[in-house]
Amino acid sequence: MATYKICRDVFKQANKTIAYCSRSNISTGYNFALSDTQREFQELARKFTREEIIPKAAHHDKTGEFPWDIFKKAWNLGLLNGNIPTELGGMGNNVFDACLITEEFAYGCTGILLALQGTGLGQAPVIAAGTKEQKKKYLGRLLEEPLVAAYCVTEPIAGSDVAGIKTKAEKKGDEWILNGQKMWITNGGVANWYFVLARTNPDPKVPASKAFTAFIVERDFPGVIPGRKEQNMGQRASDTRGITFEDVRVPKENVLIGEGQGFKIAMGTFDKTRPDVAAGATGLSQRCLDEASKYAVERKTFGVPIANHQAVAFLLADMGIGVELSRLGWMKAAWEVDNVEVISLYEKQQLFVEFRTLFVNINER
Ligand SMILES: Cc1cc2nc3c(=O)[nH]c(=O)nc-3n(C[C@H](O)[C@H](O)[C@H](O)COP(=O)(O)OP(=O)(O)OC[C@H]3O[C@@H](n4cnc5c(N)ncnc54)[C@H](O)[C@@H]3O)c2cc1C
Repeated sequence: MATYKICRDVFKQANKTIAYCSRSNISTGYNFALSDTQREFQELARKFTREEIIPKAAHHDKTGEFPWDIFKKAWNLGLLNGNIPTELGGMGNNVFDACLITEEFAYGCTGILLALQGTGLGQAPVIAAGTKEQKKKYLGRLLEEPLVAAYCVTEPIAGSDVAGIKTKAEKKGDEWILNGQKMWITNGGVANWYFVLARTNPDPKVPASKAFTAFIVERDFPGVIPGRKEQNMGQRASDTRGITFEDVRVPKENVLIGEGQGFKIAMGTFDKTRPDVAAGATGLSQRCLDEASKYAVERKTFGVPIANHQAVAFLLADMGIGVELSRLGWMKAAWEVDNVEVISLYEKQQLFVEFRTLFVNINER
């Protein structure tokens, strides 16, 4: 009975913590109405997609060439690096703003979208966890020149299971020696610098929350070896590669937050960047709907456009519902990341692991 009471209290406390962490900072509730500035950005991105991305999408899809020309034009127009904080010279856009632009680019080509926006994945951990000096040096560099960054977590043997990565870093004096192999890295061959997650505590009993460290690694550091460009089934304009790190010497100034903090930083990055993936999928779906609708009113059978056949009209209506729901989905997710202290999935897992450990300990008493 006593055990039951202790468990109930712990569970109540866990739920209270989740409720507290999910509470909105603002009282107005959801609001997806665009401000004038957001509308201007959306229109600029739409025009850019129509004029710069759509006409060249087939070429880049066929050749797999990285779209440097498009990248540089978008950079010059201020359509890239929007999330970099204003104090560093960026625009300080929030996740919702970034998603608006992403949806527009994706309408043109999701491969080119990834080439343009993939840098955001490398930037996000530096924005969230970098020191003043790290931000100035590495984010500042992206504002000064049209350069690209990348995010290196996945390995040949570990993707979803981030804690399974084997790349390791060992401390030697004021440096860390990095060894290992990453896989499926967007911008792998074109990046100027990389966010890299590595295991720094070899003890398998040490929890993930303490076993990994995050580093900023420059492309020019000796021992950084990008592999061949992968021939993706889709997203072909994006530069996807494996990267080998062979005795790469990383100065201690390039550690994010500190030793053992990497896993949390890597997971926190996903909270900020996943709505963007959904916005990209929405842009692509909108394009599919528009192309299908165009064809359905042009193509005639039995004397009428096929859109007038009920079976086809129902398909288009279902697609329209899907696209609108996807849009509402990314808007809600982005809005929550921007306005609500959302407890990350990782933190939720940690909380329940802690709860479970307590439960086991109590039962063993
Ligand atoms: C085009 C492209 C670009 C990428 N860019 C980057 C990048 O820039 N940086 C980076 O670090 N990574 C990148 N990745 C890697 C991507 O994050 C991984 O592919 C992804 O995490 C999945 O890992 P995996 O491929 O090893 O699949 P696995 O983890 O082996 O998963 C295989 C299948 O099993 C399922 N599965 C796995 N675990 C579970 C579970 N517990 N329960 C139920 N189902 C499960 C998965 O959903 C999937 O269907 C990229 C991948 C691609 C294809």
